[in-house]
Formats: sequence, structure tokens, C-alpha cells
Amino acid sequence: MTKEPEIIRIQAGASVPAEVYGARAAILAELMAAEFNVSDAWAVPVEQVRAFGRSIFPDVWPFEADLNQGGLYSLRASPVVRAWGGPETLLNIGMCDAARDALVSSLGANAANALYCRFIQDYAVQVMRLDEEDFEELIATVTDVEDPEYSKVLVAYLAFYEAEMDEPFPQDPVVQLQTAGRSLAAAWSGTSARILREANGAPQDAGLALIAQRMVLGLGQGESGAGVGQMVSPVSGRTEPFGRYLSQGQGLDALNDKARATFLGQDTRGPSLQSIAPDTFDQFCAVSEVARRRFVDDMRLEFTVHDGEVFVLDAMPAERSARAAVAITVRLVADGIKSKREALLGIDPRSLNEVLHPQIDPKADRNVVATGIGASPGADTGRIVFSANAAQASEARHEPCILVRVETAPEDIRGMHSAQAILTERGGITSHAAVVARGLGLPCVVGASGIDIDARTKQLTIQDTGLVLFEGDTLTIDGATGEVILGAPKLVQPDLGGAFDTLMSWADDYRKLGVRANADTPSDARLARDFGVDGIGLCRTEHMFFEEGRLAVMRELIFADRAEDRKDALNLLLPMQREDFIELFSIMQGHPVCIRLLDPPLHEFLPRSRDEIRRVAEEMGLTVSQVTSRIEELSEFNPMLGMRGVRVGITVPEIYDMQARAIFEAAAAIQKLSGTPLAPEIMIPLVSANREVEIVKARIEAVVSNVEDATGTTLKYDLGVMVETPRAALRAHDIAKTASFLSFGTNDLTQMTYGLSRDDAGRFMRQYVADGVFPEDPFHSLDTEGVGELMLIAAERGRQADPALKLGLCGEHGGDPVSVAFCYAAGFDYVSCSPFRTPIARLAAAQAEILDDGSAR
Ligand code: PEP
Ligand code: MG
Repeated sequence: MTKEPEIIRIQAGASVPAEVYGARAAILAELMAAEFNVSDAWAVPVEQVRAFGRSIFPDVWPFEADLNQGGLYSLRASPVVRAWGGPETLLNIGMCDAARDALVSSLGANAANALYCRFIQDYAVQVMRLDEEDFEELIATVTDVEDPEYSKVLVAYLAFYEAEMDEPFPQDPVVQLQTAGRSLAAAWSGTSARILREANGAPQDAGLALIAQRMVLGLGQGESGAGVGQMVSPVSGRTEPFGRYLSQGQGLDALNDKARATFLGQDTRGPSLQSIAPDTFDQFCAVSEVARRRFVDDMRLEFTVHDGEVFVLDAMPAERSARAAVAITVRLVADGIKSKREALLGIDPRSLNEVLHPQIDPKADRNVVATGIGASPGADTGRIVFSANAAQASEARHEPCILVRVETAPEDIRGMHSAQAILTERGGITSHAAVVARGLGLPCVVGASGIDIDARTKQLTIQDTGLVLFEGDTLTIDGATGEVILGAPKLVQPDLGGAFDTLMSWADDYRKLGVRANADTPSDARLARDFGVDGIGLCRTEHMFFEEGRLAVMRELIFADRAEDRKDALNLLLPMQREDFIELFSIMQGHPVCIRLLDPPLHEFLPRSRDEIRRVAEEMGLTVSQVTSRIEELSEFNPMLGMRGVRVGITVPEIYDMQARAIFEAAAAIQKLSGTPLAPEIMIPLVSANREVEIVKARIEAVVSNVEDATGTTLKYDLGVMVETPRAALRAHDIAKTASFLSFGTNDLTQMTYGLSRDDAGRFMRQYVADGVFPEDPFHSLDTEGVGELMLIAAERGRQADPALKLGLCGEHGGDPVSVAFCYAAGFDYVSCSPFRTPIARLAAAQAEILDDGSAR
């Protein structure tokens, strides 16, 4: 029969497994092994703590003799996993009349009585559940609280305790210890504690062990006290002391008594441990450095000082923001303490969002008036505007603004560029507003269904509270949490310093999966290049047509009835497109650039409001009714499933011809300039049958030879297909015969696989996820079971037909770590996502490579 674990003395080299004695006990053993000053301590195993709950205690405690002779002990929670928390520590167990008498000689009568009073109060409140306020009130009735005479307080406390509990305060230290043990066990099994720790991932039968430790009093002669501190800034990660210390204090007093506590290191705001006891501070620094090397991390230490000497009570990873985490880990590698591999695995890729964008200061108050889906991270503040034009006007006045729309449309792009952040009533994680905002790096909240927007009267109403906001009111958008905040809480700006670049360069050394950016314009491409991506994985060319001066030409094209009229408009668009591509190719300096031919339904380019229709009619010499009837002709019941993507390419082939010509003429120009060949990638959207690809390819072939003849250059290109329909995935083996790469457009593929509109899913997605109908928003994190299954089928079938077939992903999932790991395991060549998300993808790709035990690919 295996022996039940017993209470053990924690010692250097002793086996103190965390599953049995809790994480704190295990750390304490490590601290002892590192030869820190650690006071004697014993660990009570999880099973025994459970028995305490049933009032079963050891016959004899191993430190009972000392306890009975005036030794004071603390009883501290040691949960199996630190993050599960635990009940508060009880200090000074053993304090009684006799112990007080013994302390008078070293502390003096008043301090000894004060300590006794403190224990009575702590014991009464923490163990016996009496009211703390009663004690606070009592003290004020018997003595001057500014200069208390504790002999009087003691008499009052003992009498009060006896009156409340119907028994005198226990004088037997073992009784105190056991009662405290039972109380801690009961607190752990209480419902609220259980719910709280289960929210932190604890299982139902989560275990609590306890530590009984001989007190280092923190009181008395010389410099004595207690504090909590770390040698790194929790905000920036820079090496600097951060913490609080309280002379003549115990436990966490320094944190609880902010008025009396001092700083840890020299500080202009007030006294510090460094200024009052420099030697003790130096000891703390030395101890921190040893702990850092021992635990391969910067640590936060709880410590007590006795007569100038530092004793360590507990050590845990130093508090840090995401930005600080990067700086800390990079310095640990530079100091030879941590390997690059460990550093890369230790950072959660999602946490980089916090590093890349401004955030609301965690200490700031948030007056949250509504919530939606956090669709693009970061936070920003501005005055409400209700239209793209108003946003541009606001920018012209240098007045930061938040663009608030029911939903956005392509024609809002310029206004979105001008806004600080975007809020929409409708839409999901891949709606127009969300995709564009991520591309621009703007905070964005979509699907805030609890608000009503009336762009006409310029009012935003919060349904729950009836609060009405007007144009010009100040809002802050938190695109990570989905919160809409009234007013302007303080923001913390990102600081992509050297540490971030260093970490990214290590990620690049490890990863094999390519990471590209979705970049539509030269400024996107510059941003992408500055982020160090491997190329452009998706250039949505339609965004180019919304640039100044182009929309009108595009509209002329759409309104043209005859092929010749279309030709005129296309001849105007051709040089503009060619210039776009020349710029893109030069910015990307030979890195792959994947250009998608026009995708959205043509009616997206048409005017919507009455004013706009009138303006278009004026510009084009048409009547309002002619414009309106053309709009009606083009309108569809289901535009996302209608005349878009390759269907436009086949039915109005001149558009794709013009785009192909612009691409090849740009490539020829760059080739001539640089002298090195350039092979653009051309991608066809929304394909569902190989025949579509064959038809488009035949026309592209004609264009390329035409441009080759005209320019006297030899041109190469790769033709790819976006797999966005389930049928394209299932017929990948056909398509692979015509295309040389497949890029999964997982936004549309998710929409089509679920039969769920990407623009409307936001209305119920939050509830779906909260109720556990879907584990996650599938537009946010790839549905590996359904959509992923289709991708695997396509990858296998496609590569069977052509083993050299390149595979990529260019939906928004490309910036989601779980989806990146999926693509890595599936043997993809690259993922592509908004520039601001590429660092997340790079780190996730490196982690996938490091964690690959050979089974992934
Ligand atoms: C997609 O559908 O995943 C995609 C990248 O294309 P878009 O978002 O432009 O439809
Ligand atoms: Mg798509």
C-alpha cells in the first residue's frame, strides 16, 4: 500500500512536488536550494488539507514544540497551480498571553501588545468571520488612533472577542493553528472560491495544500519590515526597481497600507527602501538576480526584513504588460539565461496585439456604454462623425474622429482612412468595416447591436439606457474587448522598440511557413515591408478603384452600355492600374506580389444616397432616372452569392483583360529597370469550376504575349485560384491542372461552408459563442473541423494532381495563431493577413515549427 503523503519540512533538495504540496511549497524548496534566507517551513499535503475540512488533524505537528514555546507561524495557501489563487494568509499564529510576554523584551511592551491585537483581529475576521469594522470602531473608542496605547486596545479586543464568540480568545497555539487550517480548507471549498478558480482554468477537484512557516517578524530592532518588489518595470520591462516596502510591517502590509509604504528603489515621489536602508536594498537586488537566473525569468519577490537582513517568502514571475514581456524575455536571452527557443515559446502571439497598438491605460476608469465584437485591436478616442465625408472634414480640421456607421461600404474607405477608429451597428469579424480597419491598423468594433444609429439626424442611441449621443461627442473604442467607452480614458502608446524587432528576427530564423501581408495600396505595401513580411499574399485590386478620381471612371465603365464606351473607361483606368502595380512591385523589391483580379459585385461601386446619385448623374450627363434604373438593373437579392469574382471576369472580360495588361506592363517596366525577371502572381476570386479558370487563363495568355511583343520582354507569371467555395475545394484536383497555386479565401469559404453571411453573423455570434453553440467565432478562428476539413481535402487532391502546387491562406484567419498552426501542419507554403497581424503570424509560425515533433509535416 502506498503511504499517504505527510506534512514535510521544506528543505533544499527535498522532494516537494507541486501536485502534492502546491506550487508555493515547490517554489519555497527552490528558494532554499538557491540558498536564500528562507525561514523554516512545513508543507501540508492536499489530502491532509481536505481532512482539515472534516476536523481531522495530525496527532502532533512537527513544529509543535516550537509553537508552544512562543514561536509564531504563518499559514499560507499553496494551490497546486498558482493561478488558482487561494484564501488569504494568516500571520502570527501562536500569539497569546505567554507569547506576548516573551516578546516584550525584544519589541517593547507596546509593540508586543500591538502584534497581539493584530492577531486577535486577523484571527477573528479571517477565521471566525467577525466584522473588521467592529474592531476598527473599537480601537477608536479606547485610544488615540494616531498614537495608540495597545494595552488598552488589547483589553478591549479580548473582551469583545469573548462577548462575540461566547468563549475566551484561544490561548493554545495548536488550537489556533488547527482552527485556522479548518477555516482555510473551508474557504477553498466554498462556492464563490470554486467559481472564481474555475474561471482561471482550475478543475472541479482542484487541490489546496498549505504552508506553515516560522515568522520573521518584520518588527523590532534595526531595519525591519516587509515588502513586495521586482527589478523590472511592469509597463516597459526596463531594468528598474518596482515595488513597495513598509518598515515595521508584515506580509502584504506594504501593498495594503499605501499611505505609509515607501517605494523600493530611489524615487522622486518619496522615501524608499534604497534611501532608508541602502545595504538591505542591495541585498534585495542581489537576491532578485539569483532568483532570475534560478527561475529563468524576472521574479517578483515577497520578502521580510529582519534587522537589515532580507528573507524571501515567495517568488512568482514578475508582473508585466505584453510589451514588458517582450523586453524581459529578450534581455534574458541576451544575458545567456534563456534560450531563443524558450523565449519564442514563452510569448503568446495574441499578446502582441497589445504591443502593436495603443491601449487604454489599465488603471483608467472605463465608462462602457455599449459592446460589440472587437474586430480590430487597439484603442483610440475621437469625436463622433456619422459619414465618411464628415470624417474627412474632421481630419482636415485636425480633429480626431470616430466613424460611426450602421455598416460600412467600399465608398466609405476614404472616410475610414481619416478616422481614428470605427464603430458599426452591424457586421461580423470579416465584414467590410472589420477587414478594412485591420488593414489600416485602426481599432474597430462591429456588430454593436445594442446601439441605434440614425445618420440622418446624427444621433446614436444606446438602447439599454436610452443615452443619446450626438455628432461631436467624444467616444473611445477598444477594438480588443469590443467596448464602446464614453469620454477619453488615458491611452498608452505602443513602442515597437529594439526588443520587438529582435524577437521577430528570432521568429523568422525558426519559421519555415511563409508570412505575407494583405496589402492593397502602396502605403499598405510599405507598411507590410516595414513589418518584414515575405511578400504580398493578397492585393484586393477593387480597393484601388476607390482612390480619388477613380470611382467616377469606374462608374462610367459600369454605366457604359456599349463595348466601345467601356473601352474608353478602361483606357482611362489602365494607366492608373499600371502605376499602382509599378509602385507595388518597386516597394516589394522582388518579393512575391499576389494580385487578385476584381472581386466585388459591380453595384458596390454605384452611388447609394440621393445626393450621390444626383452628383453622378451630373458628372456623367445622365438623368437621375437613368442612373437609378442602372442601379436597379445591377441590384441582386444576394450579391455575395451573385455576380461577383470570376463571374464578372467572364461576363465582362474587358475588366480582367485591362487588369492583366496593367500587371504585365508594370512587370515589363520594372524588369527593364532592374534587369531582373519578375514573376507576378495573378489570382482569380470566387472560382467554383475549373472551366472558369481555363477561360480566364486563355485571355491572360493572350494579354501576356501581346505585352511581350509590344515591350520586347519575356514575361513570367503564376496563375492562382482562390478557394472560396466548397466546390472549388472539392474539385481542387481539376483546378490544379490549370493553376499553379491555390490560396484559401477563408472568409468566403467559412461563409459558404456554414451558409452564414459574413456581414450579418455579428448579430448573433456573441450569443452563439457565449451559449457554447460554436466554440469560437469561425470567422475569427478557423473552424478546423468543417472548413479545415475542406481545406485538407483540397490540399490533398490538389497536390495529388500537381505535387508542386503552392498552397496559401489569405483570409483573416492568417493572423490567428491556431489557424496558423493548422496551416503549418497541413503543409501550406504561406499565410497572409493584414500587415498589423503579421507579427502574430510570424511568432505563431515559429512556435509551430519549434513544437513540431516531426509528426506535423
Ligand atoms: C476571403 O474571402 O477569405 C478573402 C480573402 O477575400 P475577401 O475577404 O476579399 O472576400
Ligand atoms: Mg473572398
